[in-house]
This record gives sequence, C-alpha cells and structure tokens, in this order.
Amino acid sequence: MLETLRRQSTADYQRADAAHHLHPFTDYKSLKAEGSRVMVRGEGVWLWDFDGKKYLDGMAGLWCSQIGHGRREIADAVHRQMCELEFYNTFFKTTHPGAVELAEQLAMMTPEGLNHVFFTGSGSEANDTVYRLVRHYWALMGRPEKKVIIGRRLGYHGSTVAASAMGGMGGMHTQGGMLPDVHHIEPPYWFDLGGDMSKEEFGKKAAIWLAEAIAEIGEENVAAFIAEPIQGAGGVIIPPDTYWPEVKKILAGKDILFVADEVISGFGRTGEWFASDHYGLKPDLMPIAKGLSSGYLPIGGVMVSDKVADVVAEGGEFFHGFTYSAHPASCAAALANLKIMREERVVERVKEDIGPYLQERWRALGEHPLVGEARMLGLVGALELVPAKPGRSERFANTGEVGTLCRDISFGNGLIMRAVRDGMIIAPPLVISHDEVDQLVALARKTLDDTLAELR
Ligand code: PLP
Repeated sequence: MLETLRRQSTADYQRADAAHHLHPFTDYKSLKAEGSRVMVRGEGVWLWDFDGKKYLDGMAGLWCSQIGHGRREIADAVHRQMCELEFYNTFFKTTHPGAVELAEQLAMMTPEGLNHVFFTGSGSEANDTVYRLVRHYWALMGRPEKKVIIGRRLGYHGSTVAASAMGGMGGMHTQGGMLPDVHHIEPPYWFDLGGDMSKEEFGKKAAIWLAEAIAEIGEENVAAFIAEPIQGAGGVIIPPDTYWPEVKKILAGKDILFVADEVISGFGRTGEWFASDHYGLKPDLMPIAKGLSSGYLPIGGVMVSDKVADVVAEGGEFFHGFTYSAHPASCAAALANLKIMREERVVERVKEDIGPYLQERWRALGEHPLVGEARMLGLVGALELVPAKPGRSERFANTGEVGTLCRDISFGNGLIMRAVRDGMIIAPPLVISHDEVDQLVALARKTLDDTLAELR
C-alpha cells in the first residue's frame, strides 16, 4: 500500500470513514455501529483487508472483474496512456486513437447491427443516455407522443435519475429516483411468482404481461422496453427458457425500441460475449460497462443500432455528453482487458469448462436444508434461502434478515457473496480456477451450515 495513505489500524480507517465518507447503498446507522471493511489488495479472485484477512471475491468486485484483480498488463497499458495523453475530451468533433480502436472493436464484437457506441463513464450514465436517446429518436421520427418506457420490477439500471426510474426498485423510486411516463411490469421470477405453473408456462405468462402493458398503454405511446437479459441486482433472476422467445414474438413488428441492459450480463458472464447472443436477442440499444474494463477504470457506453444511429445522425447535434466519455486511460484499460480476454479465451472457458464445473457444484447446494433453489447460468448464480423444504411455499418472516445474516457469516468465513432479500448471489471473476471453485463451494456450504446453526 502507498505509505502516505497508511494509517495505524482498521479502527483508524473506520473512524475517519464513518465521519466523512457517504457510501453508496449503505445503511449509515449500521456503518456507524459496525464500521466499514477496509480492503487493501487484490490478486486474481482474492482480496485482502487491512488486517491481512483473505477473501475469495465471489462478486468480482461488483460484477465487473472478469479477468480478476491485480493484472499488471492493465496497469502498464494505463501508465503508457497516462504518460502520452492523460486526458482529452471527445466533444466537438475530437477523438483519440484509443476511442477509435475501442469503438471499432465493440462494433465488431457486439450483436449484429450494433455498430455505434456512445461512451459514458458508467452503467448509470449509459442508461440515462438510453433514456435521452429513446426520447430524441422518437421526436426525430415525428412521434414525440411515444414517451412511455416499460421496465420491470426488480430491474436495476443504475442510480442516476432516469436509470433509477426505468429500474424497478421501489426504495429508489421513493428517494427521488422516479420520472413520469415510466411503467413497470412484473419480472420473470418463477421462484417467487410462478405459483403452480411449470417454468415453461410461467415464462410465457411473464412475457404476456408485456403484451398486456403495451395494449393498456397503447402501442402509439410506448417508446421502449428496457430489460436486463438476466436481472442481476434484483436477485439473479434467470428467466425460464420460454420467456425471451415469447417477448421477441410480442415485440416483432411493433414500433417499440428494445433495450437490453448488458452492464452485468455482457463480456462473458453467461458464457457468450453478450447474453443477447445467448438468448438470440437483437437490441436496438445496449448499455454496457463493468466487464468492459474489468473495473480497472470507470467506463461504460451505449451500443446503438444502425436503425437508431441513422436517425440520430440526421438530427444534427445531440446535446448530450460527459467530460469523461471515452476517457483515454479508461479506453486503454478496456482495450488491454479485451486483449487479455481474447488471448486467454476467457469467454470460451466459461462456456465450455469452468461454467459447467461451477454450475454442477452450485446446483448441488440446492440439497442443503436452507436452500429452496440453486440456479446459475454461465458464472452468475443465486441461492434462495427458505425456512423449510420444499422451498417455494414458505418464506422467512422478516424479508432480508436471514440473507443479511448469511452474508455476514460468509464474509466471516472469507467468501464474499451478496445478499438480495433472502437470497445469496455470486458472480466470481471469470478466470476462477477449478481449485478456487472447489474452495468457493466449500466456503458457501460452510456458510449455509453456520447460518442454519445460528437460526436453530
Ligand atoms: N445496469 C445494470 C444491469 C447494473 O447492474 C448496473 C450496476 O450494477 C448498472 C446498470 C449501473 O452501473 P454503474 O453502477 O456503473 O452506474
């Protein structure tokens, strides 16, 4: 660690942190009572805190560290870029080699038709860009009345205002994160909403909720449908196989833009470069971030189809942009990250080798008395914790309490899992080894045992 930043103890950090640092998505009362965790080092799938405790990073930072922590190649690429041109903007007809190279690579690697990118600094900015692009597109098409954007409950598209409004997190809406003309439908969450239906039946029914919403609002008023192919922050909701084919049928031939938010599901998480490839989706707009640079530096963007870009180009100036759109150092980090992912066949390995290896072991956790369902696609999965088997009929009384308990026990055991309601979710670095998968699953099992013991 940098000597100038070193303090004497974790408690020193915690005191100053609680006094001055307003953390994102953090309960400030418990932060004050318990103090923050102070992370100081990362290597591969491992993290170390200030006291030297080692953690297996089951959440890849925050769903972003595809190639793992501490890769020197990225630091070197960023260093080279910083020495040459640390910053210049991309406003007013200016560009730089890294932006050009990255835009071209993204156009080639993303699903067909997405040949343009609008760079942002994050996934939230990408989704606020989506909101404005959608409105701008329909205005240019002479149909300004097409304003309503349909999102889904438990969807997460970020924390800026439009992103939060399009997302379906009630708590965020009530804290200033809502806008008019946004409508939410229920998610394809079989475990919670499927009742007596088979997964296949329920997948179709959940898609029909979209058709019903469009009919109710009027197609002439609907601008776009936005969805994560897999809902990540909402609890790793992997839709039944029937869902996306049915949604595609519903949207076919309709004048409604389709936005696939691939901020989590992109860059190999599902075993394809994009979940849109996995599900055969053809988005008109596709927000990306996180795995684009493996989180080494902040960068995001919106992939824009020819259909939308052609109209926007005809419209003259788009009054939108961020100082750090296509930041040169972030572009250098992203390019170095994509190079590593290609050279080490990271995505292919998720599909053919390490994905199936973890999935088999993760699903076996479904037999644990505390687990109602263990699901996983690629390297992103969830465990639904329940008070009794079989799992779907009964839930814990105070939603979230057992999830939080299990999350904290997991941290204590040296495994970082995230709690969503009473579910545990993981999305480890895509470069995790077989041996590390074995350690992850053993720690998850121990965590479930310890949680069960605590509850009895
Ligand atoms: N979209 C999705 C699907 C996300 O999961 C997230 C963040 O978790 C975002 C957008 C927002 O990205 P950021 O936190 O980079 O603003």
